[in-house]
Order: sequence, then C-alpha cells, then structure tokens
Amino acid sequence: MTEPQRPKLQVRIIPVTALQQNCSLIWNEETKHAAFVDPGGDAEHLLGALDHFGLKLTRMWLTHGHLDHAGAAAELRERTGVAVEGPHKDDQFWLDLIEDTAQRYGVPGLRNVTPDRYFEDGDVLEFEGLRFEVSHTPGHTPGHVVICNKEMKIAFVGDVLFAGSIGRTDFPRGDMQQLIRSITTKLWPLGDDITFVPGHGPTSTFGHERRTNPFVADQITGYAGAQTIAPDVGEQRTSKRWT
Ligand SMILES: [Zn+2]
Ligand SMILES: [Zn+2]
Repeated sequence: MTEPQRPKLQVRIIPVTALQQNCSLIWNEETKHAAFVDPGGDAEHLLGALDHFGLKLTRMWLTHGHLDHAGAAAELRERTGVAVEGPHKDDQFWLDLIEDTAQRYGVPGLRNVTPDRYFEDGDVLEFEGLRFEVSHTPGHTPGHVVICNKEMKIAFVGDVLFAGSIGRTDFPRGDMQQLIRSITTKLWPLGDDITFVPGHGPTSTFGHERRTNPFVADQITGYAGAQTIAPDVGEQRTSKRWT
C-alpha cells in the first residue's frame, strides 16, 4: 500500500512594476491550478506567465494594500473571474489610494480594488489540498497579513520582513514597535526553518534573520533569550553597590 501523494506545489517569483515587487506564482503541476500572491502590476506579464506554464488561475491573495502588491488585482479579477482575497480590512484605505499613489510614483495601469473577502488573524486558506495559515501582522501597514504553508515550509510576508531588513514604518498608520512585535510574535513562532518570500529582494529563512538581521535579531529584540540568558552582569554589579 502506498500513501496517496500530496500534491506538490511549484513556486516562481515574478518581479512586477518599477518597484520590482516579488509576485509569487504557486501551482499544482498535476491539476495546473495556480495562485498569485501579491499581483501588484504588469497584469499582461502575469497573464503571460500563466500561459507559459499552461496554468489556470484559481486564487488571488494580497498581503497588504500598497500599490506594488495589489495594483493588478482588479484587472486580473475582471479578466479571469477569480476573487481577490485579503488583506485585512484595515488596509482598505491603502487599496483606495492605489490610483492616486500610482500617479505620484509614475506607475501606469494600476487600479484601486475592493477585495471579495478580507482576511482575519488565524484564517486558514485552502489551495490544492494544502493549508495556508493567515497571520495579521500590522506595523508596515495596519492591515498587513502573512500567509504560511507549514508543509512546504514557506511564508509570503510582503513588506513585513526582508533579508537583512524590515518594512518601512514612515507611512500613515505605520508603527515600528508594532512591526517588530508582529515579527517576533507572529513570524518567529512559525519556525526557524521556514523560507520566506519578501515583497522585495532575495528570500531568506526566519532562523537566519533571527541570527543576523540588524533590526530584529534575537540579540536585539531579546526574543527567546529573556528566560535563558543569565541576568546582565553590569546590572548585577550596580545593584550590589553596598557603599
Ligand atoms: Zn508595502
Ligand atoms: Zn512593497
């Protein structure tokens, strides 16, 4: 007796727009069903990728409302009939600003979008028999979410975390402390061996960032070190000044 094989998914990163945003194309080689995470622009190019691999789009997920992550969602929905899902509803104001922002950045063809469904922390998405877990991770934007599949050990983290950096927090309703809390309380518990696809630049693993990231390494945040590391020696000395 052999166990029925779980469908194995393929993942390709397709940079879109002048901001080189990492749109992820995920698909099942057997059924040819595909999902986009963060179709931020270049709709024609993304449809061309589906054609190239012979795929049928069945899911479209957004991590947050910024133009380079969500700008092609409305057009792809019109042309494929696939629903737009995510991010959390607190990012709707960003989704309503895509056209304005795109004009200022000089990125043509991007459109505002209202999702068919908002994500909540703890939502479980199904795609080709696999579970994708949603975490609400505010800080870069208030409605940002991260989507993780533990079987494939992969997470799509948008602009929360990058290889060697973290997301900007100087936008309206951005919050640095909240972003760091999102990373340490929502991302790190997913596991050190999870590879993440950030919104821009190369992939990395949570474990590598916990060791080396200049913003959120354990050494800096105190994550997981608080209980195991002996009290700071310098502090002990000052508390033991008898004279
Ligand atoms: Zn962003
Ligand atoms: Zn971005």
